[in-house]
Parts: sequence; C-alpha cells; structure tokens
Amino acid sequence: MEDRPGRPATMKMNLKDMLPEELEAWVVAQGEKPFRARQLIRWMYQKCVADFSEMTDLSKELRAKMSASAELPSLELITQQHSAQGDTEKFLFRLPDGNAVETVLMHFDEHLGPGRATLCISTQVGCAMGCVFCASGQAGVLRNLRTWEITEQVVQVQRAIMPRGERVANVVYMGIGEPLANYANTLRSLRLLNHAEGLAIGMRHIAVSTSGIVPNILKLAREKFPLRLAISLHAPNDELRTKLVPINQVYPLASLMDACRQYYDLTGRRITFEYVLIRDVNDDAALAHQTGQLLQGIHSLVNIIPLNPVEGYEGQRPSNNRIREFQQIIESYGIKTTVRQEMGTDIDAACGQLRRKATQILSGRTLSASRRAARAS
Ligand code: SF4
Repeated sequence: MEDRPGRPATMKMNLKDMLPEELEAWVVAQGEKPFRARQLIRWMYQKCVADFSEMTDLSKELRAKMSASAELPSLELITQQHSAQGDTEKFLFRLPDGNAVETVLMHFDEHLGPGRATLCISTQVGCAMGCVFCASGQAGVLRNLRTWEITEQVVQVQRAIMPRGERVANVVYMGIGEPLANYANTLRSLRLLNHAEGLAIGMRHIAVSTSGIVPNILKLAREKFPLRLAISLHAPNDELRTKLVPINQVYPLASLMDACRQYYDLTGRRITFEYVLIRDVNDDAALAHQTGQLLQGIHSLVNIIPLNPVEGYEGQRPSNNRIREFQQIIESYGIKTTVRQEMGTDIDAACGQLRRKATQILSGRTLSASRRAARAS
C-alpha cells in the first residue's frame, strides 16, 4: 500500500505535504529567505487560501515563481450534509485519485464555547481492522491518506466555517481508518496541525483513537505529545475482544495493557478506553468486573458507548438499566466513566460509534441531561 506521496505527476512540489522545516529548506533551495516559509505556512493554514495568487504579501514575481515549481492541492467538496438537530455537519471530499473521504464537524460540546467545534477526521480510505460493529471496516482498506490529505480536511472545513465566525477548536482522529496503521502520515499531520504558525491546534485539543496497534502506541508514546490517546477496548478478555476487534489476535490484551502502562509512564497522560456496549454480547456484570480488574493501576477513563444500529451488524443497544449497572461496577474499581447517550443524528456515518464520544474524550464530560432533552425535543 502506498504510504508517502513522492512528487505528483506534474513534478511540481506539493507544499502542503511538507513539515515546516522541510518547507523552509525548500524555500531556501529556491534562493529565497527562510521567513518566506513562515509566510507560506500562514497563508496555507491560517488564512486557508487555495492559490498562490491570493498570497498578497508575496511579490508578483515570487508568486509566479512559486506556481511554476510548486502546487497547493486541495480536496474537492462533493457534498455537505447538516443533521436535523443542527449539531453535526458531514463533509464528503473527493481525493485526487477519485476516492472519497469523510470528515464530520460536531457542535456537541457546550464547554467549547460559541463558534468552537470539534472535527473528526479520517486517515485511510476504508479500514483494515474489521471491528464487527463498524461499517467502515467491512469493505477493507484501499490506501492510506497522505499527510496533506489528512490536514487538508481541517483546512477545508476551517475555510468553510470561517465566514460564519466559527473555528475548529478540537481535532479527533476517529473518522474512517486506523490512524496508527498510517503512522508516518498521522504523525506528520499532528505536527502540521500543531505548528504555531499554522493551524496552531494544541496537542491537548487533539485525540487519536486506535484499535490497539501496540508497536505504534509505543512509538507515539516516545513523541511525548500531550494529546489524548483513546483505545478501542470493547471487551476485557482476549476471546471476546478478538471477536469484536480482530486486531486483538495480533496484539492481545496483555501486550496492549503493557503498552498503555508504558504510554502513561512516558507521557503522564490519562488514557481513555472506549467500550461500545452491545446487548448480550459484552454488557454483563462479569465483564464489567473484568474490565475494572483489567484497568487497575492504569490512569484511565472508560467511555461507555451504547451501540447505535449499524447496517450489516445485528447487535442491539442495551437497556438503560444494564448500561447503568455496567457503569457502576466499573466505577466501583475507582475508575472514572462517562456514558455517551444516543443523540439520534440523522447523518451519522460509518464509524459513528466512535465519533459520538469524541467530544467527551476531549472534555472529559458528558452532555447534561437537560441539554440532551432539549436536543431530543
Ligand atoms: S471502528 Fe475504527 S478501527 Fe475499527 S474498523 Fe471502524 S474505522 Fe477501523
């Protein structure tokens, strides 16, 4: 599977695929001063312009020179849907090779403040992980997204919402694809999103969700980014977890928990464990006790996500009583929990099970009951 972009067919340099230091080296190689790179970064990521001609603090000669040797590719918006509740917008973008990628903007979290939203981005075309309750994983993976194809989802949405006074405040890597299976490009995109002169999204406002690619959790730990790591747990023993999250066969729970301990030791960051609760599959009291025991000694938050219906999977949402009981048992082990309640968005997408808890992971809070009631009415 292709991983890194190389040069596009036009042989022009793709400036959006470069880290700031790479861009500076390229600018200097063109005979320009290093500060030109910072100007370019500001135009690309703060002002979100799509063409060199819009970069008005560069001379005409320089703009002409740039466009002769470099390009600023972008994603083409295919459709944009709004949920009936107004809390979610889904963007479908066309990639240069004709594939499509989905990005979801969420206004769920009142704690972010007015005009500040959370964006859920994709990292692959499809997904190879095959989690049973996820439509994205049912057709396999076609390819990794390139670095710029990941960051451009943020740039394009930012550009779309800027005129209405909004901005992307949080980014969650919880869309389609397994971010740590596209490790190099995920890492580069994190650096780009975080760059002070670019989109300047603080690492504390970024969450990366993984089904448990152990070697890359450890690699990410060594970066010591203060981001939020979320692990798709969904079951506390190998037999059941392998059925729900097949990657568990490769990286069983003992190795995953060991990686989580090392992650915490290196970063000092609490880890969120996602648990999609499925009636009569992984929701009984014994499994809740096992979960509590499994996470002993790990600084963790368990995010319980009652299953939403998924096409192609017959699993059901548990009763409210069962959900409460499951939560209480885990809390009896001294572990914090949150429960994401059904909000019934009508444009929920393939990997929506995970997306629904995205703002919780970043805020560590659930929506208030009154807010949910208001939304439901
Ligand atoms: S839940 Fe996430 S990791 Fe699992 S198949 Fe879906 S996209 Fe892939």
